[in-house]
Amino acid sequence: MAILVAAGRGLRAGSAIPKQFRPLGGMPLLALSLRPFAACDEIRQMILVVPDPEEARRQLSKWLPSRLPIDFVRGGETRQASTGAGLEAAAGASLVLVHDGVRPFITPELIRRVLSGAAEHGAAVPLLPVQETLKKVGPEGRVLGTAPRGEFALAQTPQGFRREILEAALNRAGSEGYEGTDEAELVERLGRPVARVEGLRENIKITTPEDFLLAEVLLTRGRGEVTVNMRIGIGYDVHPLVPGRKLVLGGVEIPHPCGPAGHSDGDLVCHAATDALLGAAGLSDIGQLFPDSDLAFRNASSLDLLARGWARIREAGFSLGNLDLVVVAEEPILSPHIEAMREKIAGTLGCEPGQIGIKGKRGEGLGFEGRREGMAAHAVALLVPGAEVRKT
Ligand code: MG
Repeated sequence: MAILVAAGRGLRAGSAIPKQFRPLGGMPLLALSLRPFAACDEIRQMILVVPDPEEARRQLSKWLPSRLPIDFVRGGETRQASTGAGLEAAAGASLVLVHDGVRPFITPELIRRVLSGAAEHGAAVPLLPVQETLKKVGPEGRVLGTAPRGEFALAQTPQGFRREILEAALNRAGSEGYEGTDEAELVERLGRPVARVEGLRENIKITTPEDFLLAEVLLTRGRGEVTVNMRIGIGYDVHPLVPGRKLVLGGVEIPHPCGPAGHSDGDLVCHAATDALLGAAGLSDIGQLFPDSDLAFRNASSLDLLARGWARIREAGFSLGNLDLVVVAEEPILSPHIEAMREKIAGTLGCEPGQIGIKGKRGEGLGFEGRREGMAAHAVALLVPGAEVRKT
């Protein structure tokens, strides 16, 4: 049995979303923290302690492991109260692990070390040696001395306990009004032994924006990627031209005697762009998201469809590297409209026009484009994980 404590509002990392739900590598951080437990056969049930159980289940639904039953429990005002709520829901478990929801880099090996330490000694905690020199600091920030760092260690989670020991420790602390900084501390206060197991340096607690950046780098390590987890996508669209239809390309209306036939406004530039972006994010395509059969999308502005697709991609945790397009049309000449199209698309994606490339290409009399029967657009998109790094 493992309890993931993730009930904090967690706004320290500089975002309106609690940090345990912020995207990391394309999924919510908390979903990433679940995975090592799901990969561990010894764990047969999990309890997620969250601010809002219904909302959390909705946000994580796509990433919940099928093997493992997961209960969502509402957290309390403090870390200790949240652990208590989780433990209450963990009826029947004899060994309990308590883990910070914002430590996604644990491994099944570490989980097993803690489990066997707890089974043997009643309580076990992963510790790391202190590598930096440890200073004692006075109230005014003056250094008062140097601590013998060999006598200290850094505590991580998961921490493991025999159920009755954790229960007694929480009860004692509760009745004395004591707030500890981890569960092991409460067991120490009972005078019960807490065993040391070897911690894991990469098992970082993700708290600040810098931690998120470091975490992105840790995620790509071992995949042989030089860059930070970039994703590429391709898109293509073609529409026949019919007389009397408006010609809208990249959200810009261009005077012309004919325009693309289609269910929506037929803006093939937006359609190809949307597909390239969705493809890069590993999501479905424009036809599935906005089906022709849905009357709501009849004559829809394709710039709107692009915006809606983009919102999904942002939710999945990506931001734009760049988007590049080629529009193949015999006429009209597109160059006078390219700047306006770039600006429209950049506005829709919330990026700089410099991240959008659009080139017009004539069909040179060849093929359906050359015969003026239709127009085509090709797109490639590059996405990067996480919030965009913008120049201010
Ligand atoms: Mg289309």
